[in-house]
Amino acid sequence: MKTQLGSTLPTHILFTLFLLAGVAAGCAAQTPTPSPGGGEKLHITVSILPQQYFVERIGGEYVQTTVMVPPGGNPHTYEPKPEQMQALSRAAAYMSIGVSFEDAWLDRIRAANREMRMVDTTQGIERIEMTVAHDHEGEEADHEEEDEGHKEGNLDPHIWTSPALVKVQAQTIYNALVQLDPTHEATFQVNLDAFLADIEQLEARIREALAGLENEKFLVFHPSWGYFARDFGLEMISIEIEGKEPSAAEMAAVIAEAKEEGIRVIFAQPELSTKSATTIANEIGGEVLLISPLAYDWLANMEQVATTFAETLKRP
Ligand code: ZN
Repeated sequence: MKTQLGSTLPTHILFTLFLLAGVAAGCAAQTPTPSPGGGEKLHITVSILPQQYFVERIGGEYVQTTVMVPPGGNPHTYEPKPEQMQALSRAAAYMSIGVSFEDAWLDRIRAANREMRMVDTTQGIERIEMTVAHDHEGEEADHEEEDEGHKEGNLDPHIWTSPALVKVQAQTIYNALVQLDPTHEATFQVNLDAFLADIEQLEARIREALAGLENEKFLVFHPSWGYFARDFGLEMISIEIEGKEPSAAEMAAVIAEAKEEGIRVIFAQPELSTKSATTIANEIGGEVLLISPLAYDWLANMEQVATTFAETLKRP
C-alpha cells in the first residue's frame, strides 16, 4: 500500500502527509498525563462546576476535567477564553448540559476539536418550561407582552438542581466514559453505584429536612431551583424571568405577592446581581440570602441549600 501510494501520489502531497503525521505525533506527545495504572487520563471538558464534580465522581483517577464557566461565572452569558478553546484540542469529550452560553458556543466548541466526542447530558431528560412565576393580577397588557417573548423553547436549563435528574446525568456520563475508556469499566461502575447511593441518601435527607413544608413558596432572584421545587413539593417564585431584570411593574407585583404570602427572605446567588433582590428585601422588610446552584461539591451544596430552605420556611 505504501509503495503504491508513493508511486501514484505527487511528492508535495506525500510531504504534506509526512508533516501532518509529525504534527499529530507532536500533539500526542504533549497529551498524556500519567495515571496510577500507567495509562493516560481521559481529558473531559464540561460547562459548569457541578458537572465537573459528577464526572470526577464517576471517572475517579482516570479522568482529568476542565470546566468552561469558572467559579463566580454566569453560565447564561459566559464567553470562553481563547486559551480555553485551544485547550479543547486535548479533550477526549465535551459534556454539555444545556446552559445558555452553549447556544452560542457549542458549534465553535465542536469545531475546535473534531475528534472530541460530544456528550449531551440532557439526553433522557424532559425539561420543564421556565417558571413565569408571579401572577400579574390586573396587568393584562404586560402579561401578553411577556408571553410573546416567552414562547415555547424557553425550557428550564437548571436540570442539576434535581437529584433525580442528576441520577440520569450520572448514567449518561458513565456510558460515555465506558465508551471512551472500556478498560476501566469496572471502576467506573463501582464509582457510579457509590454516587447513585449518595444521591439516594441526599434525597432522603432533603425530604426529611423539608417535611411539613409542602406547597410552601420561596422567592428567588434567578429561577435556578424550579426542578428542586418540583421534586420536593415547594413552589418557586422568581423575580427575574430567565436573564431579564424585572420591570418596575413586575417588581411591584413581586413585592405585593411577597407581602401577601408573608415572605421575608429572598434567595439570590453570588454569580449574579443582587440589586433588585436587595430593593425588594428593603420593601418587604426582609433579607437577602445567597445560595449558589453552581458549587463544585454538588452533594454537600444541595444538602446545605435544603437546610437553608427548611430553616427559612419554618420561621414563624
Ligand atoms: Zn441560571
